[in-house]
Amino acid sequence: MKETRENAGIFTFALAGNPNVGKSTVFNELTGLKQHTGNWAGKTVGTAEGTCRYVKGKMIAVDLPGTYSLIPRSPEEEVTRDYIAFEAPDAVLAVCDAGCLERNLILVLQILEITPKTAVCVNLVDEADRRGISVDTEKLSALLGIPVLKTSALHGRGVGGIPAAVKTAASLTKAYAVTYPECIEKAVINLSPLAGEAGKSKGPSFVRWLCVKGLEYDEKLMIKLSKAGMITPEFLFYARRERERIDAELGKQTTLEETVAEAYAAAAEKIAGSCVSSCEGSADRRDRAIDRVLTGKFTGTAVMIGLLAVLFWITLVGANKISDLLMSGADALGGLLRRATDLAGAPEWFCRLLCDGVYRILAWVVCVMLPPMAIFFPLFTLLEDIGYLPRVAFNTDGIFRHCGACGKQALTTCMGFGCNAVGVTGCRIIDSPRERMIAMLTNSFIPCNGKYATLAALLSIFAVPIGGSVLTAALLTALILLGFAMSLAASKLLSVTFLKGKTSSFALELPPFRRPRICRTLIRSVIDRTLAVLGRAVITAAPAGAVIWLLCNIPVGDGTLYSLCTNVLDPAAALIGMDGVILFAFIAGIPANEIVLPLIVTGYAASDSVIGYSNLSQLGDILLSSGWSVTTAICTVLFMLMHWPCATTLLTVKKETGSFKYAAAAFALPLTFGVIICFFTNTVMLILK
Ligand code: GDP
Repeated sequence: MKETRENAGIFTFALAGNPNVGKSTVFNELTGLKQHTGNWAGKTVGTAEGTCRYVKGKMIAVDLPGTYSLIPRSPEEEVTRDYIAFEAPDAVLAVCDAGCLERNLILVLQILEITPKTAVCVNLVDEADRRGISVDTEKLSALLGIPVLKTSALHGRGVGGIPAAVKTAASLTKAYAVTYPECIEKAVINLSPLAGEAGKSKGPSFVRWLCVKGLEYDEKLMIKLSKAGMITPEFLFYARRERERIDAELGKQTTLEETVAEAYAAAAEKIAGSCVSSCEGSADRRDRAIDRVLTGKFTGTAVMIGLLAVLFWITLVGANKISDLLMSGADALGGLLRRATDLAGAPEWFCRLLCDGVYRILAWVVCVMLPPMAIFFPLFTLLEDIGYLPRVAFNTDGIFRHCGACGKQALTTCMGFGCNAVGVTGCRIIDSPRERMIAMLTNSFIPCNGKYATLAALLSIFAVPIGGSVLTAALLTALILLGFAMSLAASKLLSVTFLKGKTSSFALELPPFRRPRICRTLIRSVIDRTLAVLGRAVITAAPAGAVIWLLCNIPVGDGTLYSLCTNVLDPAAALIGMDGVILFAFIAGIPANEIVLPLIVTGYAASDSVIGYSNLSQLGDILLSSGWSVTTAICTVLFMLMHWPCATTLLTVKKETGSFKYAAAAFALPLTFGVIICFFTNTVMLILK
């Protein structure tokens, strides 16, 4: 890639490392970019690149997906291996966790086989210090024959030394090499002369790697190597012969792959043994004690639901206050805007289009949708930073498996909380294609930003006057749990019908608890989210507001184009407890869920001449005076929880699966659940009336 990109000639180095060693934090610190960070394994699933800001000349850092090894078992491992082997970065920076160096060294040793142009960054030294672990980096550097530096990326310490270290690494031609049993070493000697010219040009250590890979005979890799001219046809032929010889020599007791893995492990153990000193830290004992509660059979679930409820309560109390404040401000500003347009002598239709259509809907998104998002998601990010999400995955693993899905789906479900499109992309952490598909198709049962804020606003409007914020938070928790239960039901349904198969097992890593970066997380996620929502508001809400207003003001027969549309939808909407205005808003809100509720209110307001509102309870009055009953409120809430995902999520499903069929399934699945549940609720309410 490097030679063919516009970066040709620019010093480029790749960051590789086990998951959750702080690779993204190092990358962000180096480049000033904002790759997703969080305290759990497996969130970096794609590559990202940025310009290094610690050097004068241009230097590019490429963040590769986190991997435990370069022997591909997952697409991420393949991406990382192929980048290092085929894209020929000038150097590789292997990021390691000082707290578990031995395990991390296995990847370092595998990288060194492909290229000696490697530097090691021993990160998380502050945490290791606290746990009583210290790493002698000078000794490590001497043993491996490459530059090694210590960093505490979270605090920006030591990161400034990385450019010099990778520059030094770029000139290396030799580094530590793992020694294999004699039968393999002999095969390496025999095969080396048969490597292709392109392979030989990369130096002896690369040829050695080619030989070991040739013996392992990974067909996909062999094809890539042949195409790149790194191996010859004779190489392949003799590699098979050598493999047969080695298999005979090793006997039935072990395999070549196991022998190679043991050689890495033994070398890593030896090196770590002489560079790491540790005394049992109190932090480990503390982590274990906390884990007994957080992952305990009964306490685990109770804490999980309790935490969620507390987060919702904080969000609702805070958001409602901020919303009311913002709304009165927006109302005053709306008045000013109206006066300004009048003074400017703009035509009446334009003033109304701008003030009642565009401005009002924008103000709605900012005043009502933004506050719950701006409060809930930073708090949720803090939980992620502490390391709580893998505990959630641990607690829910059994139930996901029971539904024929993968336990890692708990993590992608949590990601979906912020944005379903991110949740769908995150499903790459699930190795089995069948389980990945289940996770993608059911992700939107968990409300994203926009749905969550709408649910919070609707519940605030109707439940706060009855039972205050405690009842409202309890209802919101129950609703999210319903979404979760429905996603499990949908997973089960898929796993016994279209996506049948065995449930795979996986090793879930429980990371140590880490102190969250409270200020940074709060400030950054508030600002980032605010900007993102404002951006979306301008792009989607403003035009939608204008269109709705226009539809409401184009006369057709006795009514308007808008009433024509809503009248057509009325009968279908009535079956599921709603009306045409609500269903129309859901349909028009497909670009972004944030705009559904504003569209509903604008629809009512515009067809009913303009009604002023400057706080949430006045909005409730608008809905009630527009004919909302208890059934309408319940069904709208349920349909908001379960209808189609937004357009971005659907496009992401199409991109990830490469198929419109699956995007259609992602559309239809939650919709079917939503329609059935709303129809059922509506019928029961009608009978009870
Ligand atoms: P990645 O999976 O390797 O990309 O890891 P991340 O960059 O997402 O970091 C994992 C967790 O470790 C996050 O919670 C980071 O805040 C935290 N972290 C990263 N570097 C350091 C460090 O040097 N010290 C401490 N204490 N935490 C760190």
